[in-house]
Amino acid sequence: MKFDILTLFPEMFEPIKQSIIGRATQKNLLEINLINIRDFSQDKHKKVDDTVYGGGAGMLIKPDVVYEAYKSVKSNTAKVIYLSPQGKTLSQEKIKELAKNENHLIILCGHYEGIDQRVIDKIVDEEISIGDYVLTGGEIPAMVLVDGISRYIEGVITEESTAEESFSTIGLLEYPQYTRPEIFEGEKVPEVLLSGHHKNIDEWRRKEAIKVTYLKRPDILKQANLTDNEKEYLKQLENNRD
Ligand code: SAM
Repeated sequence: MKFDILTLFPEMFEPIKQSIIGRATQKNLLEINLINIRDFSQDKHKKVDDTVYGGGAGMLIKPDVVYEAYKSVKSNTAKVIYLSPQGKTLSQEKIKELAKNENHLIILCGHYEGIDQRVIDKIVDEEISIGDYVLTGGEIPAMVLVDGISRYIEGVITEESTAEESFSTIGLLEYPQYTRPEIFEGEKVPEVLLSGHHKNIDEWRRKEAIKVTYLKRPDILKQANLTDNEKEYLKQLENNRD
């Protein structure tokens, strides 16, 4: 997967040069290019923003500089994503879809008051938000997007890791997990996990996933595909809470 990230602050992208994503880039499983929008300014002071027509607070990124930066990486097969609080909220489904269907993403990060609407209309295929709140720039959202997608690129992490985590089973969060020591501050790891009995472990994990989702995200539980026994278990949880 190739990511071309258009930003005014390439130095903000240190976090995705580390750890799993950093190693995947070194192994050429991912290509992450940071394009500094400022390099495309024709202005002698490298100015990239200006005041807003019609008045209002703050500065807006100029359309011509963004367009020149875009032209330096554009390709017929690339999808252009603008990170914006006005976009559709990012989900695991969206991340999987992009990882599966795309091999070149051009990611546009706004800053200040945002970007002149004309260049958004001209080049952007899709707007994505990371949540209903406003940040100072699109750089952190871009890292969220790149990190999320990269986990689904072959070889970046084991397929097992993405198969059994929160949201990978529709409507369910992941069950609780434990590692050594067996006893921590007097708290023991649940006995069933030490039993080596895989069927019992799977059943316990599934029930715990239902419980955790019921307690933390009841709103997504209605999408889960539950057996009759599991629906009964859910009813018990609901009754015990009353
Ligand atoms: N004036 C814009 C508005 O009200 O919609 C907000 C601009 S915001 C201060 C500056 C930039 O941060 C945006 O252009 C966008 O790239 C990014 N940004 C802010 N919040 C975001 C979010 N929740 N998701 C994705 N990008 C966001």
